[in-house]
Amino acid sequence: MDSLNEFFNIQRNQFLALQQKVNGHPLAYLDSAATTLKPQRVVERIKKFYDYESSNVHRGAHFLSHQATVAFEAARIKIQKFIGAQHFEEIIFTKGTTEGINLIATSYGHTFLNEGDEIVLTELEHHANLVPWQNLAIQKKLKLKFIPINLDGSLNESVLDDVITEKTKIVAFTGCSNTLGILTPVEKIIAKAKSVNAVTVLDGAQLVSQVSIDVQKLNVDFLVFSAHKIFGPFGFGVLYGQKKWLDIMPPYQFGGSMISTVDFERSSYNEAPFKFEAGTPHIEGAIGTAEAIDFIQEIQLEKIFQHEQKLLKYTTDALESVGDVQIYGTSAKKASIVSFNLMGAHHSDVGQILDQQGVAVRVGHHCTQPLMKKLNITGTVRASLSLYNNTNDVDQFIAAVQKAKRMLL
Ligand code: PMP
Repeated sequence: MDSLNEFFNIQRNQFLALQQKVNGHPLAYLDSAATTLKPQRVVERIKKFYDYESSNVHRGAHFLSHQATVAFEAARIKIQKFIGAQHFEEIIFTKGTTEGINLIATSYGHTFLNEGDEIVLTELEHHANLVPWQNLAIQKKLKLKFIPINLDGSLNESVLDDVITEKTKIVAFTGCSNTLGILTPVEKIIAKAKSVNAVTVLDGAQLVSQVSIDVQKLNVDFLVFSAHKIFGPFGFGVLYGQKKWLDIMPPYQFGGSMISTVDFERSSYNEAPFKFEAGTPHIEGAIGTAEAIDFIQEIQLEKIFQHEQKLLKYTTDALESVGDVQIYGTSAKKASIVSFNLMGAHHSDVGQILDQQGVAVRVGHHCTQPLMKKLNITGTVRASLSLYNNTNDVDQFIAAVQKAKRMLL
């Protein structure tokens, strides 16, 4: 065992979920693209908040409230540094990627887009980065256009100039496909969008766990991601927006915390980020996410990526050698996500047999129905790997696929 494997096997101990058996087998958790497991230190940090610090932020006149406010706002700064944002005001707390995109579509989209304007997406998009734009397009009579994929799942970059034009006002795209694992040419798309003065929205839900992001270097206008996919808590996410936009965007929800002054008839609103954070926030979500970022940064994303890429190759080679397997998304530039079908078998049946063998994968359309249509399939089996996986997990998975093949084909 090389030292990198040894290092990650030690990290694995942080994830208590992996110490249990499922259906009589050790749990091989290969569903990290849906959500990552949470390390003990994140769980403990949230527990500590509930046990000793549980208090509301910003308004209290007592010790606990002050302490909670300090931890909550420190989390904002940690997240700001994590993605290289210039100002802490550019970090808006949301309940996840989906809410972040809805916020942009509602606040920015409704205010600044006009009939006939075009929004460019890609054929890889998760429903979260499609349906909010469809709704906006219907309401404001806008046109949606799509950057198509090649046979290997990568984006067809040769048509960028045809799809992104002077009419394009927003380019919203994923940095990493949750279904195929494909990493998209983020810099290239942003550069093209900038050349026509279009605003860019980067769906970082899968990307943030793969590569270090520097929003200033990227010069991206908006970035969204979810904490639960980077070892943090559920129900918490981040919207980064360049200050110049946040300052002129109207609030998205209304109520307490987002106001400056309130009268019976009218109110004035707070500045960003608070203008976009109506109501009591997900305090332990922010604090738990800060802990998750510490966890990632202590290990280093580059090291995690290297480990996962090794496992991806190991998994892909082993799966191909099973035979009668079709893998979707074969481009070399991809994250540790393997989507496949056993030819002639339904993905749900395969998923069920894998589950009986203690292997957790996801099956179905993975919230990318248009992509399924494009690939001419109804769904796939998706195995997604993270830092806590090792070759034993993959071997268990492959043995289960072989069993499914014997039973179903
Ligand atoms: N975009 C991508 C690429 C995703 O993988 C996901 C989650 N599967 C989302 C958006 C939506 O994230 P959430 O459900 O956490 O809002």
